[in-house]
Amino acid sequence: MRTHAFKCPICGGSVVINLIICGEDSLLLYFKCRGCGRWTYVNAADALEDAREYFDDELRRVEAAR
Ligand SMILES: [Zn+2]
Repeated sequence: MRTHAFKCPICGGSVVINLIICGEDSLLLYFKCRGCGRWTYVNAADALEDAREYFDDELRRVEAAR
């Protein structure tokens, strides 16, 4: 996945996001500027956990409806 996130304030280039999944419990959002090459990442493990909880809740809902 590669998506333009925002404009780099330093060089005006396009900052893109790469989603990196390292195993089941680790999700990184990797931001890289295509212009000046600066990059950083944030750990999105909480988002992963939230999404998993949603699906677990849905599973319970679906099973209850059977
Ligand atoms: Zn830049």
